[in-house]
Amino acid sequence: MKVNFHTLGCRLNQSESAILAQSFIDSGYDLTDDKSPSDVCVINTCTVTSVSDSKCRNSIRKLIRKNPQARIAVIGCYAEAGFEEISSIEGVDLVIGNEEKLNLLKYLPEEKLEKPRLVKDKISKDSFSIDTIGQATGRTRASLKIQDGCDFICSFCIIPRVRGRARGRDFDNLLVEAKELVERGYKELVLTGVNIGTYEVGGKNIEHVLDALSELYIPRIRISSIEPTTITEGVLDRMADPNHNCVPYLHLPMQSGSDRVLKAMRRHYSKAEYISFLYHAYDKVPGLSVGTDVILGTPDETEEDFQETLNFIKEHPIDYAHAFTYSEREGTTDYPKKHIPMGERKQRTDLIRNMSYQKQMEFGARHLGQTVSVLVEEKSNGYWQGHTENFMLVKFKSRSKLENQIVEVALEEPCGEWVLGKYQP
Ligand code: SF4
Repeated sequence: MKVNFHTLGCRLNQSESAILAQSFIDSGYDLTDDKSPSDVCVINTCTVTSVSDSKCRNSIRKLIRKNPQARIAVIGCYAEAGFEEISSIEGVDLVIGNEEKLNLLKYLPEEKLEKPRLVKDKISKDSFSIDTIGQATGRTRASLKIQDGCDFICSFCIIPRVRGRARGRDFDNLLVEAKELVERGYKELVLTGVNIGTYEVGGKNIEHVLDALSELYIPRIRISSIEPTTITEGVLDRMADPNHNCVPYLHLPMQSGSDRVLKAMRRHYSKAEYISFLYHAYDKVPGLSVGTDVILGTPDETEEDFQETLNFIKEHPIDYAHAFTYSEREGTTDYPKKHIPMGERKQRTDLIRNMSYQKQMEFGARHLGQTVSVLVEEKSNGYWQGHTENFMLVKFKSRSKLENQIVEVALEEPCGEWVLGKYQP
């Protein structure tokens, strides 16, 4: 029996697909890519914007056309929010919301159904355990899910509605998976969740998680996106400590450089607070790099607000910015507001993307002449490529087999989103 996975959306979805993929393998299935026919297709969906919903519907239809005999299971955030829309697509056999999605095999029908089986349970508020070890796609970096849900109700975001209240993974249970991933040879673990800085289970917080993982001697522990107000001094201390394996990297979603917009978004900080934290973190953590997310064209954003965001990224030590065009999402508090034209939203997004490109060039240029450690991920178009501890993408040439090794590379030329270097054997 063959199964393939199509994962849309965030790193958390990727890590959940990895867990499910392993549970299928344990039940005797082979994983295939989407070029080969399959007996089961799993679509792990995203609903962060209405554009994501429409992408999910297109993917589902495309898969059904390509695999008319396969059992089609749709799971995850859009399955939670768009239960009815998905079940009306002809050819879907199973729709599972977020609470039960990791138990997919329990609900999978043995053959194609006339009408889809629907599973949507109330999302639990309790801490959770996961008993399967994730089957990561790459061989170097594995995601480790430590948290789910969010209690912050940002005005543009549907995630708390579809993933429920903030809750953490049982501490001992996450260590079991981490140990196994280390034994499988992964060199980097990426902590994932919706709002991971709020992790709190049985008296343990994210600092305890970092310390326990560091003791496993995995070379790198990376914190994925984390809300600025949830980062403790202890987390920065660990990034600054040369004997701790937590890498000096922060992805700190800023969302807007305007106080007016931050307030309308119900973010938990002002622009001044974000700036003050940013410089404090740079002072404290040697070699730190900081990336951010911004949303352009929210209903409350004027041209002046947008200029503030642009200037903010230009003037402060932000090394790259992921720019997202605001897309209205039913169920959020922003949805009933008057929306600005899509053309303007896209124009603003493009300007931030151009600015981010310049910032990445500056980031690379700042490091020229340095020799950095790169965890080599893959070879593509004749170049090995991988990331530094502070998440710079580096490419270089070598005939040696270097996948999943940490090697030294002298940086020679910034090329925008990556830096060209020379391998130092
Ligand atoms: S912090 Fe805000 S943007 Fe992030 S998941 Fe929670 S509600 Fe959504």
